[in-house]
Amino acid sequence: MSEVAIKVAVRVRPFNRRELEQNQRSIIRVLDNQSLIFDPDEDEDEFFFHGTKQTHRDITKRVKKKLTMDFDSVFNEDSVNQDIFENCMKPLVCSVMGGYNCSVFVYGATGAGKTYTMLGSDEIAGITFLTMQELFRQINEYSEERRFDIGISYLEVYNENVMNLLTKTGPLKLREDANGVVVSGLVLKQIHSAEELIELLHLGNRNRTQHPTDANAESSRSHAIFQVHIRMVDKKTSQKRTVKLSMIDLAGSERAQSTKCKGLRFKEGANINKSLLALGNCINKLADGCKHIPYRDSNLTRILKDSLGGNCQTLMIANVSPSSMTFEDTYNTLKYASRAKKIRTTCKQNVMTTNMPKEFLLKKCNDQQAELEKL
Ligand code: ADP
Ligand code: MG
Repeated sequence: MSEVAIKVAVRVRPFNRRELEQNQRSIIRVLDNQSLIFDPDEDEDEFFFHGTKQTHRDITKRVKKKLTMDFDSVFNEDSVNQDIFENCMKPLVCSVMGGYNCSVFVYGATGAGKTYTMLGSDEIAGITFLTMQELFRQINEYSEERRFDIGISYLEVYNENVMNLLTKTGPLKLREDANGVVVSGLVLKQIHSAEELIELLHLGNRNRTQHPTDANAESSRSHAIFQVHIRMVDKKTSQKRTVKLSMIDLAGSERAQSTKCKGLRFKEGANINKSLLALGNCINKLADGCKHIPYRDSNLTRILKDSLGGNCQTLMIANVSPSSMTFEDTYNTLKYASRAKKIRTTCKQNVMTTNMPKEFLLKKCNDQQAELEKL
């Protein structure tokens, strides 16, 4: 068992047409593939920070003017999804094949490029598609030596309700057992090819509360959790391994933060995104090395418990806009991303050597007592 830090990547998206038309300034300068300068510049543009009208000068005083920040990877405006895949996801697929649980989550404000990174657009493949292609390429490569069973689940957490995006059923209940958090009644979908898997991913996306590629209020409040459960059996030794790869498209972080800020002064709003606030709290507590981590505060953090503090190699991709007008969101996202760098998870190779009945193994495989759907 070894301790590994959460890997944190930052991706800066290009200016969009509206930002270009308004001649907005860039507040981020990417120095190299591991560092950036956050530079709000000392001008007198007025904007709202924590609900109060301020100028960049006020804020730069507080954030000590220019900030140089280091991360495991930094991707500038010219980067493409393929770059993020090559740099961050390919090593994770190798870890998965080596028997390690892995998780990746995209964090950032609405419109910062989370879904574009995860799912791409009609023309450009997202990292989920590229990762699944690579996973199946490696599975084929190992097929002489190992037998594979693959099951997937695709969940959405929306207004604290956990929904199964593949079957449009829910809300599902969470409960805890010796293996951790269990999603009651979740049935994994068994798949045999990358194409089949991608088809199910599309189906799940269509079933999201709103289509995830439409930048609208509903989809930016829902969290989508895509999980691939893999059981590998060594044909010679019968050694068995079960691993889980999770890919999570989080809700827009700006809502939680602005609602929280209001909540400090006013009463908490009814539409507060409890899950995202709880995630922020868990990240803060984990980074501070606290003993008690409030995973139980929300359904998202209950589901992500093992990705954040358990047996998992975890990658956080923080998405930001370069625009001076989204200064506060960018600052908050970078602040969280910096804190997340301090988090350590414990990581061990998942190995099972005893021969167990298939059903039992499949239950073990997904940690969630779901059974692989029998075809
Ligand atoms: P989020 O999921 O964080 O709310 P989106 O991924 O939906 O944001 O991105 C908002 C808009 O910006 C979309 O129209 C998307 O196509 C575009 N976009 C985001 N990132 C990029 C990028 N790296 N390159 C080109 N367009 C992008
Ligand atoms: Mg989105």
